[in-house]
Amino acid sequence: MVFSERINQLAAEAEIALAEHFARIDRVAFENTQKVMDAFREHRVCDAMFQSGSGYGYDDRGRDVLDAIWADVMGAEAALVRHSIVSGTHALTIGLFGILRPGDVMYSVAGKPYDTLEEVIGLTGTPGDGSLRDFGVDYEQTDLNEDGSFRFDEIADKLRAFGKRAKMVFVQRSKGYLNRKTLSVHDIGKLADFVHGISPETFVVVDNCYGEFVETLEPSALGADLVIGSLIKNPGGGMAESGGYLSGTKRAVELASYRLTSVGIGAEVGASLGQNKLMYKGLFYAPHTTAQALKTAHLAAYIFEKLGFDVEPRWNEERYDIIQTVITGSEALLCAFCRGIQQGSPVDSFVTPEPWAMPGYSDRVIMAAGAFTQGSSIELSADGPLRPPYTAFFQGGLTYESGKIGILAAAQSMLENEKDN
Ligand SMILES: *Cc1c(COP(=O)(O)O)cnc(C)c1O
Repeated sequence: MVFSERINQLAAEAEIALAEHFARIDRVAFENTQKVMDAFREHRVCDAMFQSGSGYGYDDRGRDVLDAIWADVMGAEAALVRHSIVSGTHALTIGLFGILRPGDVMYSVAGKPYDTLEEVIGLTGTPGDGSLRDFGVDYEQTDLNEDGSFRFDEIADKLRAFGKRAKMVFVQRSKGYLNRKTLSVHDIGKLADFVHGISPETFVVVDNCYGEFVETLEPSALGADLVIGSLIKNPGGGMAESGGYLSGTKRAVELASYRLTSVGIGAEVGASLGQNKLMYKGLFYAPHTTAQALKTAHLAAYIFEKLGFDVEPRWNEERYDIIQTVITGSEALLCAFCRGIQQGSPVDSFVTPEPWAMPGYSDRVIMAAGAFTQGSSIELSADGPLRPPYTAFFQGGLTYESGKIGILAAAQSMLENEKDN
């Protein structure tokens, strides 16, 4: 792959400008790696824990110790980490159905949750399919302020109005598919204190997707009751083949475990099927891999900003997740961006991405992914719903070097598209 003089020059300029940001990212990765390795040492990780379990998976030490390590790293009392959780949406569904009961309110305080949760909640989809609404769980929402802060007054009023029905306050850390700012762990900690001050029994539940290891603390360390994510994003380190996790208070994780398997059985079963080593190795890599993705995102922000696009976050802003948005302004440029990312991928580089009606999403979506693990978005990947302002959501990069190649390819593809039109 050959890049134009202009693109190469921009990249060189970017890396000089970004040096201090890269140094900060390295410091965070070091601190998080220390935390992970301290937990490995504390729990005496050894080869026997990588053995494969079958059947019910009783007494699988590797599985049980990984849960304990995960809890320590997340700053939580307990955790549930399973390769059998098929996606982030599945992990979130386990958490929601594990906690909510008929008559309860699920109260989202950072606006609309991720697109795939709409049908789970019952905002869209077919009545009778088994959404939370079908089971008599109500949904309420408060948006964030324009500046991305919580509307604390409204939250207080609503919590008091719901009274005992206020079972869950739900908050999505990352911007997801919305053009908003990502919340910091500190913001979420303040929210958890605020909610518990008014309504101590309310579970504060966090969709933590894309946020893990970007900061040196996770929301469970600052009072969130249940924090949920996917292993084919940050915390799987690009190693886990599939899976999800839920971490938080003992009670919240126990309730989730009853929904994952059966009431009364919970986390004591589940065959590891040879996946333990990959999940341990993934957690070991996760702080470093997340740093690679962050550096790639900073580079993308710099380059696309210099090319005249609106980007969020800006190149010199501190980040709270690994997502970078580029507002491309047109269907043609969004598609050109994704084609470039695809060409710059290690796998399926010869494929041309096309928009499609993806299950669970309301607009057509275009996706670029050339990943070793299907659908993995800690690996270089980009996607965007085909609706104005045609925002490309970009994330990942297993190594900074490969992420950089993807970004440069995307920039080149967009410049060529503009030249052609
Ligand atoms: C990716 C993501 C999800 C859903 O995860 P899937 O693995 O795609 O089901 C939920 N919330 C946010 C914020 C995400 O980024």
